[in-house]
Amino acid sequence: MSNRTFTMIKPDAVRAGNIGNILQMINGAGFRIVAMKYLHISKQQAEKFYEVHAARPFYGELTEFMSSGPIVAAILEKDNAVADFRKLIGATNPAQAEEGTIRKKYAASIGENAVHGSDSDENAAIEGNFFFNGLERF
Ligand code: GDP
Repeated sequence: MSNRTFTMIKPDAVRAGNIGNILQMINGAGFRIVAMKYLHISKQQAEKFYEVHAARPFYGELTEFMSSGPIVAAILEKDNAVADFRKLIGATNPAQAEEGTIRKKYAASIGENAVHGSDSDENAAIEGNFFFNGLERF
């Protein structure tokens, strides 16, 4: 069990003005912010980040979407961070997400689903390292 995970507030949620609401839910659920930045990634960077999904039919749509506007990227800390954060964000498809989850509240569709949350400790470390160096973590 690791105590860190990685998240992104995706372009749809940024466009909808929900950065503040989502950060409030994250802090309210007991996560501490270790690192955070607001940035607009290129299509190439999105393709690299989502390389594991390269064979999936939605890869083009996903990387187009993730590079369509600014995002907030962050490393979060809490006991059992990966699993607890996945619970807080809810199912990939907001139609199946539980009440009170971030995706239930703020996501519009399976593709444009407001937030990312790492699915394992290993990926949390890889994804955090993609965006942040050692001097950017507190
Ligand atoms: P997650 O771990 O809940 O984010 O879900 P996955 O790892 O399965 O998928 C990664 C991301 O790809 C999701 O968060 C969605 O943004 C996107 N995605 C997943 N399934 C679909 C789909 O069927 N269509 C589209 N357009 N995007 C999808």
